[in-house]
Amino acid sequence: MTVHEAIDTCIQCGFCLQSCPTYRIFRTEESSPRGRIARLKDILAGDVAETPETLATFGECLGCRACEAACPSGVPYEEILLVGRAKLRQVEEPTPAAARLALRVVRSHVLLRGAKRLWRARGGSLQRAARRLRGQQPATRLFAALPEPQAVPDVPRLAGAAVQLHRGCVMDVVWPRTNARAALLLREAGLATDLMTDTAGCCGALHAHQGDLPTAREMARQVIAAFEASGGETIVSLAGGCGAHLKSYGELLADDPDWAQRAKRLSAAVQDVATLLDRQGYRPKAPAKAERVTYQDSCHLRNGLGVRREPRRLLAGEGFCEMAGAGNCCGSAGIYNLVRPDVSERVLRDKLADIQATGADTVVTSNPGCELQLRLAAGAADGPFKVQHLVDWLWERSRQD
Ligand code: SF4
Ligand code: SF4
Repeated sequence: MTVHEAIDTCIQCGFCLQSCPTYRIFRTEESSPRGRIARLKDILAGDVAETPETLATFGECLGCRACEAACPSGVPYEEILLVGRAKLRQVEEPTPAAARLALRVVRSHVLLRGAKRLWRARGGSLQRAARRLRGQQPATRLFAALPEPQAVPDVPRLAGAAVQLHRGCVMDVVWPRTNARAALLLREAGLATDLMTDTAGCCGALHAHQGDLPTAREMARQVIAAFEASGGETIVSLAGGCGAHLKSYGELLADDPDWAQRAKRLSAAVQDVATLLDRQGYRPKAPAKAERVTYQDSCHLRNGLGVRREPRRLLAGEGFCEMAGAGNCCGSAGIYNLVRPDVSERVLRDKLADIQATGADTVVTSNPGCELQLRLAAGAADGPFKVQHLVDWLWERSRQD
């Protein structure tokens, strides 16, 4: 579908408005999905000039895709957003320095390996230093909220395994234990699973969402080549945003004659870890002691991949309580919390109120960015509730006495 066709599917009904976090905050048409679609239509028609001001609304959008889930007309909003973001990138410096550095590092698997070594060796002390500075820059506060470096269980190689777990970028640096635990849980559930080579690198979602589509396409080709070489049939990511982006490769490379079919095949192979475990009938043990658990959806997992029920089936049981607005964005949105900390904090404030209303001791989520944002809400390690990736929660349940 072309961007013009995508825009034309909008019937301007406004059903998406209340689902949109920026509309709920600013209450202006321009800050709504419908307003953004209309703005791009005017720009493409040449009725509105392309300036930082006219395109600013695409930078303000969290990209949470809640509007897509609410839309009765099936508007593929993300395709529209990516075009708007690419145009915005042409007229203004895209991101603050910390975000530019993050984009530079995740692009290169060599730099990522260096970051991983640095994190293992010095992560704890760097973090303690950041905690002492907490309350300053958004980047420092987020850094201070990261989980500390932890021992990673061994995952023996299983060459040619049907399920290949894409390690990701930040996930592989900060959450390698969660990746390893996921591979082992999937094996316990009966699925031959291996960790993909780290040369697959980052999926490119962060670059795509910042409007850098040429780099995002280059990174997608790298992941496709690595997946094909692995011999796998299914590719899994533990980051909802990455999974949804992998799923979009078919669209992203549709105009590339050498890669379009290969990209489509990869898109068709994407699965989510909760879906695979649920299908295998995996269920965690009952808790050894009483706990109250709630679940925060990853926007892209819920709205991009349509995965809502599967994580809840894994969490179901005594102690699980559904949170009001669990599907509302937490304000993480890739590197949005670095780029637009003002809006991100307002969104997070509402989320914190929803979490506290549940009285939960533990908030489980399916995306490292959401985990980090919620850890920020919980006051990092000293907060009133614990935040865990679904895989870590399942792992601890399966290992309890
Ligand atoms: S995006 Fe969908 S819900 Fe929103 S105004 Fe357009 S058609 Fe209606
Ligand atoms: S992606 Fe999220 S923030 Fe952006 S227009 Fe849609 S609902 Fe609003």
